[in-house]
Amino acid sequence: MAVHDIENEAPDDVEFTFGSGDASDGGGVAGPGIDYTGSDDAEAVLEWALTKYSPNIALATSFKDAVLIHMMLKIRPDVRVFALDTGRMNEETYQCAEDIQRRLKVDIEWVFPERELVEGLERGKGMYSFRESLENRKECCYVRKVEPLKRALTGLDAWITGVRRDQGVTRKTVRKIEIDAAHGGIVKINPLADWGQDRIWAYVKEHSLPYNKLFDQGYQSIGCAPCTRPVKTGEDPRSGRWWWESAEHKECGIHIPDFSI
Ligand code: SF4
Repeated sequence: MAVHDIENEAPDDVEFTFGSGDASDGGGVAGPGIDYTGSDDAEAVLEWALTKYSPNIALATSFKDAVLIHMMLKIRPDVRVFALDTGRMNEETYQCAEDIQRRLKVDIEWVFPERELVEGLERGKGMYSFRESLENRKECCYVRKVEPLKRALTGLDAWITGVRRDQGVTRKTVRKIEIDAAHGGIVKINPLADWGQDRIWAYVKEHSLPYNKLFDQGYQSIGCAPCTRPVKTGEDPRSGRWWWESAEHKECGIHIPDFSI
């Protein structure tokens, strides 16, 4: 959906989905061990996190839109933003990154896979091994995403993501603030956990923010080019990711605690 269509497709009375704060409804605000007592408002969560953890906190973005970057810059100007360049991303994603960097005047800390690991994978198994088995797909995601993310998070006390509960069965219980056991017990902040895509579009439109033009082509979830395709209206947004796999496997490994290859 193009942002210029939002007026028609996301009217003022659109129903947004909010969490009640009860973990049973899909995660709640803060998990065990977190001393947060504020509201579940995304900007309140962000302000708490940036105040408590700066400068050792950064946003991981995959360039769907600029909502979180815009919110963070309203709170403080020295925010850190990093992105994983897997080497297999769409041109539209790079263009979105460039638009965000220029228009919001924020530096992007790009993180690349280890050269030796990519060379070993492609020389040994070719360019499309991820289509051959779940094990091979996890191996590619490990090389291009999971390992680089571990390096990107080194030295941080907390990281911020755009993970939402409506993004598929693997994310329905996400909390807004949680301990990330997979990354050394640092804190993981998911300010938009209870947002829906309509609310994202409304924010993008209200602030005239850059967004990934793949959405105009029917994409609802954006990852690497060979593993992502458009979905039909009403389909699970994650169904366009690794469409040859069943729904419970649709994670690259950076947002699950026990990812292994
Ligand atoms: S999404 Fe596809 S191309 Fe990207 S890292 Fe995972 S398997 Fe590899």
